[in-house]
Amino acid sequence: MIPGLLRRWGHILGLSQTRCAHCLRPFLPAGDALGASANDDVAGAAAPLCPACRTLFSPYRGPRCPRCGLPTAEARASGQAVALSRPDPESRCGQCLNDDPPWDSLAYYGLYCDALRDALLRLKFDGELSLAPLLGACLLEASRCLPSPDALLAVPQHPAHLRRRGFNQAHELAKALHCLTGLPLRPELLRRTKTGPPQAGLSATLRRRNVLDSFQAAPQAHGLRLWLIDDVMTTGSTLAAACLALRSAGALQVRALFVARTPRHG
Ligand SMILES: [Zn+2]
Ligand SMILES: [Zn+2]
Repeated sequence: MIPGLLRRWGHILGLSQTRCAHCLRPFLPAGDALGASANDDVAGAAAPLCPACRTLFSPYRGPRCPRCGLPTAEARASGQAVALSRPDPESRCGQCLNDDPPWDSLAYYGLYCDALRDALLRLKFDGELSLAPLLGACLLEASRCLPSPDALLAVPQHPAHLRRRGFNQAHELAKALHCLTGLPLRPELLRRTKTGPPQAGLSATLRRRNVLDSFQAAPQAHGLRLWLIDDVMTTGSTLAAACLALRSAGALQVRALFVARTPRHG
């Protein structure tokens, strides 16, 4: 009774305001007087979203290629208004029919556009690490369709690249997911051994050639079931190269998990 009254007065006085993890505006969490959880959005308590931003961070649930996650042409044409559907194992895109990706399965939260793209760019290029819990919560939501792994790891950056940027956004996301789930984080299992020209702006073929043999996995990956984390998937060539390295070290399963998928192969 008393705590309820105090919370009610806190609301009225604006004392229980919280700050939106995306737009940074203060807002009052959903009314606990109705019994609703204040943290039932994608990010929960770690990164609350205001009502407006909550609608911007809706997941993609439309039809997709079951191997690379590419939205089908019909889904692309009609935006996200396609009915919720399970991936049809027969509906592989042309690229996956030609060249099946090396991962066991993959999952992602949303399409690389609008607020999700904005948040990922702010994390990567503006160094807004405060967005990692929100995007980590997106990973958590996306991962619900995957079997539990032995460990998580991010697609690593080359040490020289890491020194320049100061952080690896994929590792920040893996850390956030580790904090939310308690799953072991094993960054030492994979190293990036080669730098190449930046991937952005390259054709799919050049991207694939660029990252071939760029990774080296540790023998400790042997026998492990892993989730390989990244921020965005475009052609999938980087993820595929990292996955192949883990596979060649004897990893039992590698499942790709990332926040956003570009609506095209890039
Ligand atoms: Zn907001
Ligand atoms: Zn595909």
